[in-house]
Amino acid sequence: MTKRLIFSGPPGAGKGTQAQRLAEELQIPHISTGEILRSAIALSTPLGQKAQMYMDRGELVPDELILDLIRERLAQADAQAGWILDGFPRNVTQAEFLDRLLSELEQPLDFVLALDVPDNVLVERLLARGRRDDSEETIRRRLEVYREQTSPVNQFYRDRLHVVDGDRSPDAVTTRLRELVNA
Ligand code: AMP
Repeated sequence: MTKRLIFSGPPGAGKGTQAQRLAEELQIPHISTGEILRSAIALSTPLGQKAQMYMDRGELVPDELILDLIRERLAQADAQAGWILDGFPRNVTQAEFLDRLLSELEQPLDFVLALDVPDNVLVERLLARGRRDDSEETIRRRLEVYREQTSPVNQFYRDRLHVVDGDRSPDAVTTRLRELVNA
């Protein structure tokens, strides 16, 4: 039973935590473009050097840096059993790219799961997390970028979209997501 899932939602919605948990349960890789970029920065690779300035400002990294990375990651052996994408696609161009890539690979997408959390809760959570790009100004910009560029992706996937209330305990959210995925 292959599962190919996208986790969508604003920064601070709990995508990373939930995607990690579900990926473990389903025994498929959790592919987070944000994690890949942060590790590229830590290793100071050419990708990391190009991405850092955008990430520090709360802007999206240019598509050309992300699209090849996804193509290569989905071609790896462990991704043939399925995957959970977390943080990708982040705009409609990326969603269209993924659509074409998955039809080439003959790997249809199963679900898009969107975590819904009110803005004031997101800001509180992000400030508490204290990652390098979690300063108040960057948080504000990331929420704007989400609204302007990423939320249209949910519309793109409206036929496969399930919106889940993310303003609950992490365990309650996991339970709901598990129900949807196993339905
Ligand atoms: P995340 O860990 O998903 O919150 O991502 C952290 C930062 O990495 C974002 O604010 C963007 O700067 C960058 N990033 C992650 N994924 C993408 C993507 N798919 N496209 C462009 N930028 C991304």
